[in-house]
Amino acid sequence: MTRLYLSPPHLSGEELDLIRDAVESNWIAPLGPHVDAFEQEFADAVGGRHAAALSSGTAGLHLALLLLGAGPGDEVLCSDLTFAATAFAITYVGARPVFVDAEPESWNVDPALLAEALEDRARKGRLPAAVIVVDLYGQSADWVPILAACERYGVPVIEDAAEALGATYRDRPVGGFGQFGVFSFNGNKIITTSGGGMLVSCDGEAIARARFLASQARDPAPHYQHSTVGYNYRMSNLLAAVGRGQLRVLEERVEARRRIFSWYAELLGDLPGVEFMPEAPYGRATRWLTCLTVDPEVSGITRETIRLALEAEDIESRPVWKPMHLQPVFDGCDMYGGTVSERLFETGLCLPSGSAMTRRDVERVAGIVIGRA
Ligand SMILES: *Cc1c(COP(=O)(O)O)cnc(C)c1O
Repeated sequence: MTRLYLSPPHLSGEELDLIRDAVESNWIAPLGPHVDAFEQEFADAVGGRHAAALSSGTAGLHLALLLLGAGPGDEVLCSDLTFAATAFAITYVGARPVFVDAEPESWNVDPALLAEALEDRARKGRLPAAVIVVDLYGQSADWVPILAACERYGVPVIEDAAEALGATYRDRPVGGFGQFGVFSFNGNKIITTSGGGMLVSCDGEAIARARFLASQARDPAPHYQHSTVGYNYRMSNLLAAVGRGQLRVLEERVEARRRIFSWYAELLGDLPGVEFMPEAPYGRATRWLTCLTVDPEVSGITRETIRLALEAEDIESRPVWKPMHLQPVFDGCDMYGGTVSERLFETGLCLPSGSAMTRRDVERVAGIVIGRA
């Protein structure tokens, strides 16, 4: 039997034809017709906004912070339970992250705690330059109260939707709730270009500025002139061709991930002490990864018991993200709350969830979990 990975790439079959077109037209460059088409098709897919195709989601977060003017000495409020790239971007502009705990209902940032954090920062006369809110593991954050709190203090919002392409909140696609939305096409995401990202916004001028900064900030002159520091963050035309082939099957990929989740829920839902990441009533989660928690007091085992048993059978699973406030690199950063994300890290496990998994694959994983529970 072959190794089961957590979330491997899943090609649509259309990518090769699109790559062939890119090769035959000689557009082997960080610009070209596939980049333009991918941006347009992506903007349409997430609700008619403007989009800039980039070399990574992390680059998108960095550019969003630059465009909002975040810089040295500033603070940026940030979801505590996330992948480190969210918080790394804050350090790239010389700002300092301040972390806000998750809520158990969605595993996303706790809106009430975020409001408290903003109030506390305002009282100290130190409003953050921005707030970055993550849509975790394919599930939207609770945007109505989050945006109400941020608007009250006039603080701009960046939506890190890297893990949640295809998810909705109150029937609207994620990625459009803040001033900027960021997506990732890294190899493990729901669609992939091997590596890549997209920055979206309603503000077309800001997206034009993002493209400028992402292509080394070349002033409009025949010679090479630069009035500001630029970055090499654009997406290659070859990879944009792959992205177009992937975007065409996004809806199927969401359905497949949700089906895989429902199989796990059917097979493992009755195990004592095992609970799945809840789906909040306000939207549709993609179930990018099927995540569960294992309560050692009820089940008599830990999530590590399961993870090691799976690994022994050549199956990859991963603990839920280690919260940012527990990361050595962010030692000393301020934090609001923290016990929810700590508990999710201690008890949480992500199971193999690739959209090409069959019922038999899921039964193979579930059988091992049941054998240890
Ligand atoms: C994957 C991911 C990123 C980074 O995206 P890259 O394309 O890998 O740079 C950022 N934030 C979150 C929450 C992610 O999961």
